[in-house]
Amino acid sequence: MASISPARAGRGRPQDAVDTVIVGAGLSGLTLALALAEAGLSSVIVDRVDPRAAIAGRNDIRTTAISLSSRRLFTVLGAWQAVADQAGPINDIRVSDAGSSRYLHYDHSTVGDDPMGHIVDNGALKTSLLDRLATHGDRVTFAEPGSAAALAVTAGRASLTLEDGRVLTAPLVIAADGRGSRVRALAGIRTTTVDYHQSAVVDTIEHAESHHNLAHERFLPGGPLALLPLPGQNRSALVWSERTAVAERIAQLDDAAFAAALEERFGDSLGTMTPVGPRAVYQLALTMAESGIADRVALVGDAFHGMHPIAGQGFNVGVRDIAVLTEVLADAARLGLDIGGAPVLRDYQRRRRFDIMTMVASTDGLTRLFSNDIAPVRTARRLGLSAVQRVPMLKRAAIRHAMGTLGTLPRLLRGEPV
Ligand SMILES: Cc1cc2nc3c(=O)[nH]c(=O)nc-3n(C[C@H](O)[C@H](O)[C@H](O)COP(=O)(O)OP(=O)(O)OC[C@H]3O[C@@H](n4cnc5c(N)ncnc54)[C@H](O)[C@@H]3O)c2cc1C
Repeated sequence: MASISPARAGRGRPQDAVDTVIVGAGLSGLTLALALAEAGLSSVIVDRVDPRAAIAGRNDIRTTAISLSSRRLFTVLGAWQAVADQAGPINDIRVSDAGSSRYLHYDHSTVGDDPMGHIVDNGALKTSLLDRLATHGDRVTFAEPGSAAALAVTAGRASLTLEDGRVLTAPLVIAADGRGSRVRALAGIRTTTVDYHQSAVVDTIEHAESHHNLAHERFLPGGPLALLPLPGQNRSALVWSERTAVAERIAQLDDAAFAAALEERFGDSLGTMTPVGPRAVYQLALTMAESGIADRVALVGDAFHGMHPIAGQGFNVGVRDIAVLTEVLADAARLGLDIGGAPVLRDYQRRRRFDIMTMVASTDGLTRLFSNDIAPVRTARRLGLSAVQRVPMLKRAAIRHAMGTLGTLPRLLRGEPV
């Protein structure tokens, strides 16, 4: 498929004919631009880095656990088909606590036939999104790389000035520029931040035994260690959270010492392990915006809520922002309403509040509950694991939560076009 080459913003049509300006071409910005385009809305998208160059430079070596409802959205947008063969299904999840033989086993067949999720390489997913966006050249324009510098709202329009002086104007500016969002700051939205003093070491691990499409999450005093099944049976993606100083030391180990440290923490159920890289370290924190909207501004993804990867849900929550925002904007446009107007944005915020607060509270609570070695807390969490393991209703609810299928879903997450 043809690729998008960044063009001058607005080339080929007047600037103010664009419905939205999207700042950030990470997973959230690209997904949102495609969802809006499929719903008939146009965008100009700007990032400080050319997205294809970022993929080629392997700026983001992570994989992401895509939940069932997120996969439905990517399928309806036509972006799943190109990554389906490279996606590792998660049929079951095993949660264990270091030092205890008890574990919690989630089996997808408890709630249906679909896998709970799939592990996908971030670079592959972004490439697929870019290829799909290339088919929407009439609705999506990539501005040349640039960084947001100033924001002004006048006469029913928001104008974003970039550091090189270019100005992008639309009824709505959408911040998809990640947890350190500049647009969020320019819009005057404050954040609450919690530093967990943890970092995640990310690597790819080959192992002698088959993973049987089982994802492991093992809670250690320094943080959770996850091994997530990749396609084929003998490779898994590792996300190993530890206190930051420890994580940095671990990341520097040679492959043999790294494998030995990993086997010591994880055990031998996957046999001999070999790290095959690449390896990177990500600092972990919670960043929560005090509001998801401001005057002619909406936040999505990590710009709205950046959370600990303990539950593998951060981007999936962002996908839910995108599904709701797309539906709200498309419905407003069909009714002839101002898509950047306060009533429309308030509707978005209202529909997202509960899910985000639930996810932020649960990932924060889990991180605090599991990342320590205080005896009474250790006992409480083991009792908790046993209780969920024994109560089928609790287990089914937890599985549906991980699959993103709880509650009333917007159309894209049900697998329907907007
Ligand atoms: C180790 C780890 C593992 C994870 N695993 C999972 C998982 O399994 N499942 C899951 O759902 N989530 C997971 N997450 C969370 C997920 O990675 C993030 O939620 C997701 O990447 C956020 O995407 P985003 O596009 O919102 O932000 P980002 O990826 O941060 O993208 C922001 C974009 O904005 C651009 N930008 C920034 N500032 C500016 C500016 N001033 N002007 C212009 N452009 C700008 C950046 O260049 C970037 O391209 C994980 C996170 C970590 C750290």
